[in-house]
Amino acid sequence: MPAHASSEAGRGRRVLITGGAGFIGSHLADTHMAAGDDVTILDDLSTGRRENVPAGARLVVVDLRDGDAVRALVNEVRPEVVSHQAAQASVSISVREPVRDAEINVIGGLHLLHACRDVGTVDVFVFASTGGAIYGEVAEGRQARVGDERHPDSPYAVHKAAFEDLLRILGPDAVGRAVVLRYANVYGPRQRGDGEAGVVAIFRDALREGRPLRLFGRQAPGDGGCIRDYVHVSDVVRAHQVAVSNSAFPSVSNIATGIGTGTADLLHAMERHMGAARSIAQAPPRAGDLQRSVLAPGPAFAPVVELAAGLETVIRD
Ligand code: NAD
Repeated sequence: MPAHASSEAGRGRRVLITGGAGFIGSHLADTHMAAGDDVTILDDLSTGRRENVPAGARLVVVDLRDGDAVRALVNEVRPEVVSHQAAQASVSISVREPVRDAEINVIGGLHLLHACRDVGTVDVFVFASTGGAIYGEVAEGRQARVGDERHPDSPYAVHKAAFEDLLRILGPDAVGRAVVLRYANVYGPRQRGDGEAGVVAIFRDALREGRPLRLFGRQAPGDGGCIRDYVHVSDVVRAHQVAVSNSAFPSVSNIATGIGTGTADLLHAMERHMGAARSIAQAPPRAGDLQRSVLAPGPAFAPVVELAAGLETVIRD
């Protein structure tokens, strides 16, 4: 067990956020900056954006796959808190490019964890895992719980599960405490609408720009689409802050709402909020998409943002 530096009273913590130029990571960076922490962001800017980095935070452009560069940065920062958000985060890309997904999401994570072990300063290491993909299909009427067996069925989910396991096995020798947050479908300001994931941002952009929309069916075209658990990014931030500061926070938690929403219902809610309706092409199910994913929130987390209020923040973004 490394000798962990303890925070001096009255000063912020040294925080390293990987993926801090991305959607979720940048909101975490904002909150740590507001708390007076000393924030360094490791990001290769592959999907992240420089303008997401809050004023006063330091951005270092590093690819997690470059073990030497990761080690050099961790040695220099000597972080007390590490929040590991960087990832190849698209399920469909992971199906097309499983090797790249493994290199970033497994090997890149190991570079980071080994660097943490060597520097010996990390009190808490938070890992952004996936509740939306790790449990596989969730039967009608059920919510997946943390203790349920995992059924990862995409390279992305397999690699997230692998890093969860590596953290469980190697974490005790590397960091003071490791916390796995399994996010459901996160949405909110700064999510990009130009990728293959992030349906709320994709719908918003298409509705704004008057582009036609494609709605993938759950089992057949026009059946209302897949069921997802949409959790607002500010709830993720809240969970993360508690996980970092409360040493009794569970080692694995679902960051979710427990509420399932069909894709068509989501789209209609956004049309109502935006006062816009577009032509919708009903498409067959998309390969690799789970039909239903809904998670029991917690154990030590309860969301506060309702979908209607959360969608407003995306529409105003
Ligand atoms: P995002 O793409 O906005 O953020 C990922 C960040 O990681 C980006 O800034 C990107 O540039 C960076 N990155 C990617 N590859 C990198 C590499 N090789 N080296 C260094 N940086 C790299 O995605 P997000 O939605 O903010 O996701 C954040 C984390 O949450 C990811 O780990 C993702 O798997 C996880 N997650 C997200 C959701 C969701 O619904 N958004 C759900 C479950 C889990």
